[in-house]
Amino acid sequence: MNIFCIGRNYSEHARELNNPVPQTPIVFCKPSGALLRDNKPFYYPDFSEDIQYEVELLLRLAKPARAVPKHKAIEYISHIGLGIDFTARDIQSRCKDKGLPWEIAKGFDHSALIGEWIDIHELDTSNIEFSLKKNKELVQSGQSKDMLFQFEDLIQYITSIFTLQTGDIIFTGTPSGVGPVKRGDLLEGFIGERRMFWTEIR
Ligand code: MG
Repeated sequence: MNIFCIGRNYSEHARELNNPVPQTPIVFCKPSGALLRDNKPFYYPDFSEDIQYEVELLLRLAKPARAVPKHKAIEYISHIGLGIDFTARDIQSRCKDKGLPWEIAKGFDHSALIGEWIDIHELDTSNIEFSLKKNKELVQSGQSKDMLFQFEDLIQYITSIFTLQTGDIIFTGTPSGVGPVKRGDLLEGFIGERRMFWTEIR
């Protein structure tokens, strides 16, 4: 299974990390070993001192996809989900300063938390509201209509470069409000009122 991720897809989040707003989607990948499922705990890795949460809407591919035009893109999505793109911000900052790739800051084991899936036909995809609570307090909230690149744009762009397979996952980027976690924290993600995942940091 391939895991594709989009960076800086909300202008407020780009600004909070002092990044320019991109003209085309910023794409990176995580290896399959990054997956964390079934509300399992997240174990804080010893190579970082600044692990941060980024809550993101997820797309799951319905079928193989290559060079998909924008007007057909929605047909290629079977489910919408919610997850966390865990990021070692201290390592990412060092990589960015040196102009080096981000993978060690973004693709480490269990850095791609995914929750439940909702059949895309059960949702109004014109605007999906989602949020993240840390220790029962709201820390991030977003709505899909604020994405710089919408679901259709992302499918069109990614499949112009990569062939996607059935079941592949796309992390669509995080809204503003990213922040650190520490051992003992409880993270819970919601689409609307529906809890899609939880994880304890250990
Ligand atoms: Mg992200």
